[in-house]
Amino acid sequence: MRKITFVDNGSVSFSNPVRQPLFDFKDCLGGGAEKAVRAAESLKEIYPGVDSNGYKMSVPMAGHPIIDEGTVKSEFETLQQLVDEHDAIFLLMDTRESRWLPTVMGKAAGKIVMNAALGFDSFVVMRHGAKDTARPEQELGCYFCNDVVAPADVSLSPEDTKPSELTSSGPSPSQIEPLTSSALSLVQGSLP
Ligand SMILES: [Zn+2]
Repeated sequence: MRKITFVDNGSVSFSNPVRQPLFDFKDCLGGGAEKAVRAAESLKEIYPGVDSNGYKMSVPMAGHPIIDEGTVKSEFETLQQLVDEHDAIFLLMDTRESRWLPTVMGKAAGKIVMNAALGFDSFVVMRHGAKDTARPEQELGCYFCNDVVAPADVSLSPEDTKPSELTSSGPSPSQIEPLTSSALSLVQGSLP
């Protein structure tokens, strides 16, 4: 596995390095390095043979207003190109609504979609189902299949304190292990 691409709209903040080991303190200075770009550079510092790139951009979100149609369209097109160019998509997002578009795009393109979501006292690690044309009745669901409400804009709700900011210095490494193990088991054929 040599090609890894990061998509993130943010900059490295002082709360990040403790749980996001591709960043360190100096990445937080001066307003913070661009996360996606810095993460790609950091991977190359660990292993120069990796083909790693970062895209600083937003993922269009269900339920959020479209402020600038041209920007959202170009972000969608970039995301579409990235989905097409990659075999697996890891959804390491902050909110339900930010997971929605890459979920349906991954599904439409028949890609492996892996998902990790953190709550205050729990977390979810799962892979999304891809179509098995030989056994369509065995198709697995996605993150949204069992939801009773559609994704919506939670950015204005009083519950919008990000669990990642509060709890994930411990749980995020714990989440990553089953997430990556599951993805590797899938591509190496030990999962159905
Ligand atoms: Zn679904």
